[in-house]
Amino acid sequence: MNVNLTDPIFHDESKAREHLENLRWPDGPWCAHCGSINVKRLEGKSYTPGALYCRDCRKKFTVAVGTLFERSHIPLHKWVLAFHLMTASKKGMSAHQLHRMLNITYKSAWFMAHRIREAMREPAGSGPLGGENKVVEADETFVGGKSKNRKGDRIPPKEAVMALVERDGACAASMSPTSRPRACVRCCSTRSRMPAI
Ligand SMILES: [Zn+2]
Repeated sequence: MNVNLTDPIFHDESKAREHLENLRWPDGPWCAHCGSINVKRLEGKSYTPGALYCRDCRKKFTVAVGTLFERSHIPLHKWVLAFHLMTASKKGMSAHQLHRMLNITYKSAWFMAHRIREAMREPAGSGPLGGENKVVEADETFVGGKSKNRKGDRIPPKEAVMALVERDGACAASMSPTSRPRACVRCCSTRSRMPAI
C-alpha cells in the first residue's frame, strides 16, 4: 500500500478529523454515548470543531469520544501520522523517534506509542487457534538475563514462556505456570524441556 505523507490528513486537523469520521462512521455519524443515529452537527464559532449533538440522550460528542484519542490534547493529525509511522515502519518506531518526527515532547510521544500499541493488541482470548486442516506449532523458551551478568554465581530468574503459532495465522504466548526453569539454565540457556501444558 502506498501512502502519501503529504496527504492533508497528516497535516491538517479538520482533514484528519474528517478522515477519522469516515473510518468510524462510514454510513453517517451515530451517538458515541447511546448509539442513536438521531444526531446533528453543531456548527458555529461557539462549538468545538467536529462537535455533534445527540437528540436522544442530549449529549455532545466528537469522533474522538470513546476512542483512544478522547481527551487528548495532541492534535488529531499528529495521532493519524503517529499511527501511520508506527504501523508502516518495518522495524518499528520508538517513542524517541516519534518525539523527533512529530515535534512533540518525549512524554507525549511515549504516551502515544503506548496507546497505539494497546489499540493494536488483539483482545485476550479472541478465539482458539487451529481447527480443521490448520497446523499449530508449539515451542517454549526461557526469557531472562544471563548468569554471567549477575553478581556471584547465582542462577538468573528466568521465566518459561510458551508460544503457540498457527501457520499463516495468529499466535499466542504466555508464561508457563507449570514449568520452573531452575533445573536447566546451567546446561542450556534458552531452551529446555517443559512439561506439557
Ligand atoms: Zn446519544
